[in-house]
Parts: sequence; structure tokens; C-alpha cells
Amino acid sequence: MQKLQGIAVSPGVAIGEALVMDSEGFKIPRRFVTRDAVDEEVERLDRAIAAASGEIAHNREAVSQELGKKYGAIFEAHLQMLQDSRLHSELEEMIRQRHYSPEYAVSRTLRRYAQVFQRLESSYLAERVHDIFDIEKRLLRHLLGGRAERISHLTSPVLVLAHNLTPSETANLDRQFVRGFVTEIGGPSSHTAIVAEALEIPAVVGIGDFLIDVSGGDQVIIDGDKGLVILQPDEETLARYQHEVEEIRTLAVRLESLRDLRAETSDGVSLQLLGNIEFPYEVDHCIDRGADGVGLYRTEFLYLGSETEPNEEVHFEAYCRVVRAMKDKPVTIRTFDLGADKVPHLPEPEDERNPFLGLRSIRLALRNLPLFRTQLRAVLRASALGNLRIMFPLVSTLMELRQAKMVLADVMEDLDEHGIEFDRSLKIGMMVEVPAAVMMIDRFVEEVDFLSIGTNDLIQYTLAVDRSNKDVVGLYNACDPAVLKLIRMAIEAADKKSVPINLCGQMSGNPIYTMLLLGLGLRRFSMTPGVLPEIKNICRHVTIEQCRAITERVMTMENARDIKSCLKEELKKRLPESAQ
Ligand code: PEP
Ligand code: MG
Repeated sequence: MQKLQGIAVSPGVAIGEALVMDSEGFKIPRRFVTRDAVDEEVERLDRAIAAASGEIAHNREAVSQELGKKYGAIFEAHLQMLQDSRLHSELEEMIRQRHYSPEYAVSRTLRRYAQVFQRLESSYLAERVHDIFDIEKRLLRHLLGGRAERISHLTSPVLVLAHNLTPSETANLDRQFVRGFVTEIGGPSSHTAIVAEALEIPAVVGIGDFLIDVSGGDQVIIDGDKGLVILQPDEETLARYQHEVEEIRTLAVRLESLRDLRAETSDGVSLQLLGNIEFPYEVDHCIDRGADGVGLYRTEFLYLGSETEPNEEVHFEAYCRVVRAMKDKPVTIRTFDLGADKVPHLPEPEDERNPFLGLRSIRLALRNLPLFRTQLRAVLRASALGNLRIMFPLVSTLMELRQAKMVLADVMEDLDEHGIEFDRSLKIGMMVEVPAAVMMIDRFVEEVDFLSIGTNDLIQYTLAVDRSNKDVVGLYNACDPAVLKLIRMAIEAADKKSVPINLCGQMSGNPIYTMLLLGLGLRRFSMTPGVLPEIKNICRHVTIEQCRAITERVMTMENARDIKSCLKEELKKRLPESAQ
């Protein structure tokens, strides 16, 4: 048994078989071959070794000629390893005696070799691990050839273990069979993490190097609440977690009874608890959890989930599905927030060294007007069917907001000319997720119908901490006093002008912050639907006065650590179950 600590990003517990994806996205399942296919499979292995050897020899010659023999020797070492008779007999034995497929035998054996090297004291030898992985990949490429198994073609439940999953890879995971995932890299508010919540599967990211220690088919437990991953659990641990799975089910059933109760504090202050969605099907999650509407529809996933650019009809159908399902409840469509870690099949911008500071979001939209206008037409057409609003992401200057509104007005005119119906009083809002927008908030409130604070980005840009980088996760802190001051400024400015303000970052769905946000004056929260019942439960157990008292105390504190422990303590006093 081996326990690994990572960053918890999507709650719940999953127990099941590992499906290991290496950095090239190969899926290495534990697969067996039939007795009569053994000879053929050994031949297939031999052919792969021969092809890989030919490739390496070719590289050796090319590099020796270009750079000299010293460099060619790197490939010579690979060649010797690959043609080592001991390696060959081990692989053959696995196929003949244990009936492992050549792919599985290669992956298992070379990973075991890599482990041995990694444990050696010498850093030079530990570095050789990369060479072994290189050989493994080369062999797998030849073995799998054009048949490289894609993660989307699964036939049984698995827990995906990968070096990294991009938001679009995560979005394309097969919901029927993927029961959880773990990645070596990634941070707490990365979009990969957000998609895991949308899929409602437990997920842990930022574990660090661990794929070397697992093989496809190994039993794994993912504890998405504590950020723990347990490889090959012992019987006692397994039994404990099986019990926990049962308890989670019971709690979910208990919270279900809250669905039809009003979202309000115990002293009767009425609230709006809304759902965040990435895919249209999640509208059902919102309805099941009793959401008061959709506070954030991250429409960029329409681009990320497909090979081709979505046309107006694809947009329109998605929005119609959501707006119709929510009936008269509000649905906030955020125009696409592409770029940074959400990269579709658009031409890559040159020289994008700081993608989070680069051509992303509204900036990208304003530079790709045909793309932007296509989406706006679809949003406007869908606005005729229900209670729809539109919101622009990552606005940092007044000019940007005005330009976006101008494009929208222009598209409205276009629809008018063609006699196409839309909601003329469509509410227009913007995300507040850049410190500059907060500093200028008194001007922004004059020009929008509503605001939504995007704390995921606001934290990142305020503290200069990449939200998806596990190495700086300790610095990414929602309760940093600087962040809290900005949130307070935004809420106060919005209240002064009676402009509705929502908070749709991950902070909204984290029980620790509920009382603090209520105390800061927030009355609209938008979150992953799965956590909505728990947040509603907290709201219904506290008064605004209690929350204000906590907030006042917290706002005098100087550092995030003290603030967090105070908030945890206060939550524990009132709702111990939610404070775990
Ligand atoms: C945010 O930044 O808080 C937000 C809600 O937007 P996203 O997570 O999609 O960047
Ligand atoms: Mg954002």
C-alpha cells in the first residue's frame, strides 16, 4: 500500500482499477492474451523491438555526424538497453507464462526498472529514468501503432491516472466509465479541476511524480475530499473507504431534502444560490440541487469539446437546452473565455510566454470578431426563449467593456434588420476578476446591469500566483487579506448603486467561506451544483449578524493562515460536519 498526498479538487471517494495514461496519452490497460496467441504476440514484441532499435540506430548515426560521437553515444546506451537479453527474456516470460499483452509487459517491466534507478542515491543514475521512459514510449508507439487506444473508447469503469489532463481532455472523458482521476501536475483552481467537479467525479491533482509506481489494473482509492490517493490499499483501508462511500451516499440523500427549501439565512434574509455549468447537461444537476438559476455558463467548453469550431446553430442549441430547462429562472451566459489553459483549435498566438497574461478571454474575442459575433447571435436568438443574460469575462478596462457592448449592439441591429427575435432588455454584465476592474469598480457599475466576481482569477492576478501550478499552491489563497479587501470593495460599490453582484469563483462553493461572504454582504452565490445543498444548509443555520461579527474580526487579521483557521473554527462550532 502506498499513500500519496495531492490537492483535493473534486469531492467524493472512488475505488477502482487504475488506467494509466503516460505523457503521450497512451492508455496501458492490464490485458491478457490467449494461450494460442502467445507465439504471435512474442513475434509482435520482437518486431517492435527491431523497429525501435532501427530508429535508435538511425538517430545515433544522424547525431554522431552532426554533433560528434560523444552525443551519438547517448543513443548507443539506449540501443544496448533495448537489446539486452535479460530484458528480452523477462518480457517474453511475461507473455508466455503470465499471458500479459506485450504492451502491458513492456510498461510493467520498464516501470519496475525505472523505479530501481530512481531509488539509487546517485543523481546521475536517477536521471537515467528518463532514458528508460524514452525506451518504453518508443516500444509502446511501435506496439500500439495506429491502434493507440484512446481514453474515449472505454468499456469498463476506471480511475484515470495521468501526468496531466488538459481541460479539453478532461471534458472529453467518458462519463459512463471514468469514475475519478489523478494528475501529477495541476493546481486547485485549474480548469481541469473545475471540469472534474462538473463531471461530479472525485479528483486529485498536483500529486507529483507517481506514475512510475503504478501499472494499469492496480487497485486505487481516490479520496477527493482529503486529496489522498492510495495505491494497492490493504484490506482494512479498503473496508474503511467502502464504508465512507456509503456514508457519502447517506449524506447526499439527507441534503436532498433541502432541494425545495428556500435559500435564506436563519434570520430570513433571502439569497440566490445559482449553479455554474460547463456543459448543457449540467442544467439537470442544477435542477436536481434546487438551484435558483445558472449563474455562470462557461461556454468556452463548446469549443474545447469538439474538433471543429462550433457554428451558430451549435451555440444556439446548447443555450436553448439550458434556458428552456431552467424555465423562468435566470441563465447567465458568459461569452467564451478561451486562451491561457483553455486552448481550442485556433491558430496558436506566437510568442505567448505568459498565456494567463496574454491573448485570452474578452481580448481574444475582440480580436476575433467573426468568432465573437457568431456566439453573440446565438445568445441573442436564445434570449427570446427565456430569462437569459449575457456576461463578458476578464474585463480589465472600461474601453474593453464598451467595445464588447458595441459589438453586441451591432449584432442586435443585424438581427433586427433580418426580423429575428431577441430580448431587447437583455441584461448585460461583466466578470470582476482582474484587480484593475475592482479599482475602477465605481465606473464599471455605471455601465453594467450586473456583476459577477471571479475569484479564481482575481486571486491569481492579485497575488501573482498561477492558479494551475502545483508548485505555488501554498501561495494561492482565497482568504488572503488583499483578496478579501478587493471582494469587499466590489460588493460595496455594487450595493451603493443597487447593481446585483454575484460571486462565481470556486470560493462560492467552499463551506469555509460562506459565513465570511455573507458577512461581506454577498447575497448571490454561484457554484458547482454538487455543493449547492451543503452551502444552502450552512446559510440556513446562520444569521447575518453572526456572519458580520465573524467578518469584522477576520478583516482585522493580517495573514491568510490566521483568517482560514478562524473561519474553520467558526464553521466547526456551528456545523461540524461541513468543517471537515
Ligand atoms: C473565475 O475566474 O473565478 C471564474 C469563475 O472563471 P474561470 O474559473 O472560468 O476562469
Ligand atoms: Mg475567470
